Amino acid sequence: MLSADQLLDALLERARGVTASKAVPVANALGRVLAAPQTSAITVPPLDNSAMDGYAVRVADVAVAGVRLPVSQRILAGTVGTPLQPGTAARIFTGAPVPPGADAVLMQEYCGTEGDEVILHALPRQGENIRRAGEDIQAGAQILAAGTRLGAAEMGLAASVGLAELPVFRKLKVACFFTGDELVTPGAPLQDGQIYNSNRYTLTGLVNGLGCELIDLGIVPDTLEATEAALAQAAGLADVVVTSGGVSVGEADYVKAAVEKLGRVEMWKVAMKPGKPLVYGRVNEADFIGLPGNPVSAFVTFCLFVRPFLLKRMGAADVLYRAFTVQADFTWHKPGARREFLRARLQANGKLALFPNQSSGVLTSCAWADGLLDLEIGQTIRPGDWVRFIPFSELLS
Ligand code: AMP
Ligand code: MG
Repeated sequence: MLSADQLLDALLERARGVTASKAVPVANALGRVLAAPQTSAITVPPLDNSAMDGYAVRVADVAVAGVRLPVSQRILAGTVGTPLQPGTAARIFTGAPVPPGADAVLMQEYCGTEGDEVILHALPRQGENIRRAGEDIQAGAQILAAGTRLGAAEMGLAASVGLAELPVFRKLKVACFFTGDELVTPGAPLQDGQIYNSNRYTLTGLVNGLGCELIDLGIVPDTLEATEAALAQAAGLADVVVTSGGVSVGEADYVKAAVEKLGRVEMWKVAMKPGKPLVYGRVNEADFIGLPGNPVSAFVTFCLFVRPFLLKRMGAADVLYRAFTVQADFTWHKPGARREFLRARLQANGKLALFPNQSSGVLTSCAWADGLLDLEIGQTIRPGDWVRFIPFSELLS
């Protein structure tokens, strides 16, 4: 059986990034992956400018607090002043270019006015409240690398150098279906023995959160014929097929058999808890990943394996989650034979608490938690021990 690390490595080895790209307006680039590096044609900020509303002065003119200077000009953001004559001050506003000759801006809270004069109640320091030209970006510098996932900050950065459009990779198409005769779609009543198809909402939420194009093929009954038909359809429509359920060795588990029939299975089973049964294979041009049916297992295995795989397929450069070392606020005395990922939450004291029920069917644990505690084989924990924690901010989008 593969270890979790081996499975992740093997998946990433197989994940070929999409290559087709097109230009989109920056405003529409949220969640897309940048297809080519971007450089700035301009210097940002373009000129030395004021960080405050106040008065631009020459420091040499203000030897003591209480000095009065005539206000020789008024410079608003969007205008340019004239060189500051010695012995004068310029009224200046945030973002307005600092006039040549001025070497500090004293914020208006330290200034008084009388007629056309300003009284400087404090001593300005050399360079105070001046934002230097180019302190953010130099002309010609790279601002965004290829493979960057574009979020709000990246969109703003692109706009700050005047880019109107960005080249992005085409969206990755991900088809999902959910196997199980017991599954019912919310909205319909449950009959005896039935449960609601929660994985549909968890997994499609995760796929959509990554910025993929989702193809939701719904519930598929537990027969080989139905599973094969759904798989053939999904593989024809999508780059990657992700399913839940039917991957164990039960009599009603047909997913692995269907993949073997229509394509090939390359990996099966991973030594971890939750989530041991997991299938990777290929059907024609499509990748196939079959996740376990247990709702927590499906969620956790998606986060740990499917997310990095999809990100790499999307063309993203940075696909691995980061783990952090935090202190435990609990006792764990059940050393496991497999690596475990427990649902945990950071408390106000900065330490980690565990959800009391770690069963792979208890989806409440995932909604309660804000990350996964990564437990090594055989590890036990006492309060105060340092443990490995992967926050959901690293896993969910
Ligand atoms: P399976 O992997 O198909 O053997 O399913 C394992 C467990 O997960 C069973 O208790 C199933 O009823 C449950 N399960 C399977 N698919 C889903 C789903 N889509 N939503 C909620 N629970 C599911
Ligand atoms: Mg099943």
